[in-house]
Amino acid sequence: MVVGDFAIELDTVVIGAGPGGYVAAIRAAQMGQKVAIVEKEFIGGVCLNVGCIPSKALIAAGHKYQDSLDSTAFGVTSENVKIDFTKTQEWKDTQVVNKLTKGVEGLLKKNKVEILRGEAFFVDENTLRVMNDDSAQTYSFNNAIVATGSRPIEIPGFKFSERVLDSTGALNLPAIPKKMAIVGGGYIGSELAGAYANLGTEVTIIEGLPSILNGFDKDMVKLVERNFKSKGVEIITGAMAKGSTVTDNGVTVKYEAKGEEKSLDVDYILVTVGRRPNTDELGLEQAGVKVSERGLIEVDEQGKSNIESIYAVGDIVPGPALAHKASYEAKIAAEAISGKKVAVDYRALPAVAFTDPEIASVGLTESEAKENEVEVNITKFPLGGNGRALSLNATEGFVRLITTKEDNVIVGGQVAGISASDVIAEIALAVESGMNAEDIALTIHGHPSLSEVVMDAAEAALGMPIHM
Ligand code: FAD
Repeated sequence: MVVGDFAIELDTVVIGAGPGGYVAAIRAAQMGQKVAIVEKEFIGGVCLNVGCIPSKALIAAGHKYQDSLDSTAFGVTSENVKIDFTKTQEWKDTQVVNKLTKGVEGLLKKNKVEILRGEAFFVDENTLRVMNDDSAQTYSFNNAIVATGSRPIEIPGFKFSERVLDSTGALNLPAIPKKMAIVGGGYIGSELAGAYANLGTEVTIIEGLPSILNGFDKDMVKLVERNFKSKGVEIITGAMAKGSTVTDNGVTVKYEAKGEEKSLDVDYILVTVGRRPNTDELGLEQAGVKVSERGLIEVDEQGKSNIESIYAVGDIVPGPALAHKASYEAKIAAEAISGKKVAVDYRALPAVAFTDPEIASVGLTESEAKENEVEVNITKFPLGGNGRALSLNATEGFVRLITTKEDNVIVGGQVAGISASDVIAEIALAVESGMNAEDIALTIHGHPSLSEVVMDAAEAALGMPIHM
């Protein structure tokens, strides 16, 4: 092992190369700083390697398979449809994940960010040690941005194994399972339930709360539940998963629902009950950084921890664990340490579930508006009246705008339906920039497009809908 006995000086060191870390590093470099990024496993972090991106690839594969099996509405019939899952996985890994992570590595290099492969450990509030199998080197820094992300939570009775999977295991199965139980019906569990159900797996979701997709409006969740039902996905809510037993050719999950103990034999159990922040093996205590009981680093509105030189972003700070939140916070933190007067504002932070149909929300929901005593009008416009949705044979869903009673300012919105993940962006822009319904109504939207439903909803909010 080579041990560097002198400290290399850096302006800024970023720890972790996920959507928080790599974005922070690039932005700090763009602002003129000498930056290094430390990564112990994979450039791109959880999101690009074992999260957002590979899950969307499998979801897309499921949709292709379903469309191949049944496109009779378009007059297209098919015979003998087959899926070669080895090829699906190969495509996901080589053409999607590797391409994207190589691209990010290229961007870091282009911006002259030094990539340090190894595990980072704080020595004190201005010193970091980076270790790998071959070397150990000390770095001194003016500022550090910690972006070490999170890992799946393991629960008692469900030790991760070949049959009891975390999300990473579920994304990398060698073959499509016949039967799968999913413990936890949050957005990760529901997205993977949809992907495998579309690929032909018999899926059962075991959820402790009264509903899956907790946090999303009920009318959106209902659409997803109905779709699950049509694919034979069983949803057991108010159920406690009790334990698992690996058998010769599968695994049994025990759970309690409505006071009764039940069990289910499946090929795999996927456990997605939440994620734990990676703040426990970083030496944060040596740097004096305060960590909450849940392992989160409390930060101010620029991402600064209780220690002047140390910032934190992404899954290790409070708020929803989402990639776009991590990247947003990363830009703010990088700009703040570069002397720019910036602060986070989460007003327009979207949440998306890539279920069937997709559901998305930004800003206030109707109930949040009530809780905050904001007087609002609620306008819901169905996708069924949209030409583009009809031509795609995907009319299920709606756009809802939440506008202030006083002056029609758009303070929130929800979208359910095909491409909700994209359509929500216009409402996010409106919320972020304080637009009112008239601004949207006056914006010329390309025809025919799903985005026209946002314009229709805005016109409806103004009491003058053309298409309703
Ligand atoms: P991470 O992406 O977790 O990156 C942290 C990096 O830090 C890792 O590469 C890790 O190796 C490295 N690291 C940790 N400790 C050290 C150390 N001591 N030294 C050096 N390096 C270290 N979010 C969305 O917004 N949309 C989605 O559709 C979505 N889908 C998801 C699907 C799945 C299956 C999962 C699991 C997650 C999904 N997420 C999604 C959540 C998203 O992946 C995370 O919110 C996001 O990755 C957080 O980014 P981050 O930069 O904070 O951390």
